[in-house]
Amino acid sequence: MREELKDAADFGWNIAEPGFDWQRLLANKDREIDRLNGVYERVLVNAGVSIFHEKALVRGKNEVLVGNRTVTAKHILVATGSWPQLPDIRGRELAITSNEAFHLERLPARALVVGGGYIAVEFASIFNGLGVATTLAYRGARLLRGFDGELGTRLGEEMARKGVTVALNCNPVRLTKDGTAIQVELNNNTRQSFDVVMFATGRKPNTAGLGLEAAGVKLAADGAVVVDNYSKSSVDSIHAIGDVTNRLNLTPVATAEGMALAKTLFGGTPTPVDHENVPTAVFAHPNLATVGLSEEKARERHGKVDIYKTAFRSLKHSMGGSEEKIFMKLVVDAASQKVVGAHMLGPDAGEIIQGIAIAVKLGATKAQFDATIGIHPTAAEEFVTMREKSA
Ligand code: NDP
Repeated sequence: MREELKDAADFGWNIAEPGFDWQRLLANKDREIDRLNGVYERVLVNAGVSIFHEKALVRGKNEVLVGNRTVTAKHILVATGSWPQLPDIRGRELAITSNEAFHLERLPARALVVGGGYIAVEFASIFNGLGVATTLAYRGARLLRGFDGELGTRLGEEMARKGVTVALNCNPVRLTKDGTAIQVELNNNTRQSFDVVMFATGRKPNTAGLGLEAAGVKLAADGAVVVDNYSKSSVDSIHAIGDVTNRLNLTPVATAEGMALAKTLFGGTPTPVDHENVPTAVFAHPNLATVGLSEEKARERHGKVDIYKTAFRSLKHSMGGSEEKIFMKLVVDAASQKVVGAHMLGPDAGEIIQGIAIAVKLGATKAQFDATIGIHPTAAEEFVTMREKSA
C-alpha cells in the first residue's frame, strides 16, 4: 500500500504524508477473520455438520473422545495442521512467531525476522513496508531454498533495495532481555537489540497428544501422519489431509486433498491427488510465483534444458525512477521442448503465474508459448516473447 501511494504521487496525485494506524489494521483484520469464521461455520452447520468446540483424542480405529463424550464414526479424518517450530537456543521464549505477529500491541520500531522461507520473507516485507527497521537473518547463502536459485538471490537483492537489512549466513545463538528490548547475539559474534524478534523457522505437524500412535497410526520422524496417495493412514478408517501430512503445505493443496478424499470415500471414484506442477506464490515485496521445476531440479530430472529469461523495469514503476526489476524465467526440457518451469519475481506474480500454470500443467511447448500473442503493454507478455536462449 505504501508503494502504491508513492506510485500515485509519481503519477501526479497530491498525497499527504501517509500515516499508518496499526490498531485500525488489527481491528479490521479481527473483524474480517470473525466474519470468515462465521461464514465457514454456517456453511458446515447448514450442511448438517455437528461441531464440538473441544479437544479431541483418538481412542481407536473408529472412536474419538471429544471433551468427555465418546464419538464413533466409520471414518476419521485428521486435519489438525501444523505449528511453528523454534530452534533450541537460549532465550527463545522472548521471541514471537507468525501466530503472535498480528496481535502485537504496538508496531515495533526495530524487528528481527529469523528464517529464509515463505513466512520469514513475507513478514520481513510486511514489517519493512509498515516502516519498521527490519532485519532478516537467514542461516543459508540464498533465500527460499528449494525455489529456483535466481529467484532467491534476486528476492534478497530487491528486499534490500526496499530497505530490509538482509543478513545471509547469519543466525541468532542467544537472546537476552535488554530493558524492554531483546538483545540478540548472532553467530558472527555481534550483538544487536530489537523490539521484536520473530522466528519463522518452519512448522511441525500437529499430532502430539492426539492419540494417533496408540490407535495404530504410523507417524513419520517429524510427527507427520504417513499417508498413501489417497490420504489413507496405516489404519484403514483413518485418513489425514493438509499440513499434518507434511506433503505440500499449501492451503489450496489441502483443499484439493479434501475434495479428492470425498470423491474416494463417498463419490465412488478413487481419486489420488496430483502434487505435480502445483503453482505457488510468495507474498514478499516484490511478490514471487512459480510453477513446475526450478532450473536446478530440471537439470537433475531432464539433463539438458533450455533457459529463457528476462529482467526489466516495469513501465509503471519506471515513471517514478524506481530501479526495481521484474524477473521472468522459463525452463524448457530440451528434448521434448515442453515448458517444465515458469518463474517470476515482480508485482502480481501470483496473478500471472496462475494462468501460466494451466499451460504448464497441460504440457505446452515453448513453441506454443511463442505462438500466443502478447497483451501489450503488460509485464506478463514477456512470457510469450522471450526468444533468446540464455543457456
Ligand atoms: P519453511 O519451511 O518454508 O522455511 C523455514 C525456514 O527456516 C527455512 O529458511 C529454514 O532454513 C529455516 N530454519 C529451519 N530451522 C532453522 C533453525 N534451527 N535455525 C535457523 N533457521 C532455520 O517454513 P515457514 O515457517 O516459512 O512456512 C511454513 C509453511 O507455511 C510452508 O510450508 C509454506 O508452504 C506455508 N506458507 C505458505 C504461504 C504462501 O503460500 N504464500 C505463506 C506462508 C506460509 P533452511 O532453508 O536452511 O532449512
